[in-house]
Amino acid sequence: MSLQVEFPEPKPLPKTGVQVGIDLGVADLAITSDGQKYPKFQAFWEEKQGITWQRKFDRRKHQAKVNVIQWNHDKVHLIKLELNDYKNWQRARQIKARYQRKLANRRKDYLSKLTTQLVKAYDVIVIEDLKVKNLMHNHHLAKSIANASWYQFRTMLAYKCQWYGKQLIVVSPNYTSQQCASCGFQSGQKPLEIREWTCPHCGTHHDRDINAAINILHRGLKTV
Ligand SMILES: [Zn+2]
Repeated sequence: MSLQVEFPEPKPLPKTGVQVGIDLGVADLAITSDGQKYPKFQAFWEEKQGITWQRKFDRRKHQAKVNVIQWNHDKVHLIKLELNDYKNWQRARQIKARYQRKLANRRKDYLSKLTTQLVKAYDVIVIEDLKVKNLMHNHHLAKSIANASWYQFRTMLAYKCQWYGKQLIVVSPNYTSQQCASCGFQSGQKPLEIREWTCPHCGTHHDRDINAAINILHRGLKTV
């Protein structure tokens, strides 16, 4: 089979003159400095099926292994069995893979649409550099982070900005959620469950994530 694909050179998108900072969150995937919140991707059905069939696959494969060992150990049988003679676990593998593939495709689709929307709306996008490795040590967050697919989001933003003539700036993530975006006061570390706070210095009431996104935007604009 021969396949021919035409890939047109992407044309720069029209400029909007708007800049944005994006904070990547756990509850929401992306929070922008202008107050938009984009929920994280969720597909309960596919996730549940993926886990269920993963479990069935593990169990069935283990059982098949045990059966093969027992059968072959018994010298009476003339025919030796192999793991591949058992179809049950292979079927579970196929079903499991199907759900996992579906889940991955849906997530990719969601992120594609979201990043395209962002690249269309803004000329300069500032995001924070991820320290996924550090965060992964925190078991509490690990699953949410994997789900939120920050890495994929960032990768897509990067190539789309390049395709469409927009600018992506990556800044250091340190202290972005501790600093007051209005007066610059450092209010110290806050536990993750605190979603809103009031600056003790200037009295501004902040949404934690939007404040962080504004700090990210400011930090990014300083570098250009
Ligand atoms: Zn303040």
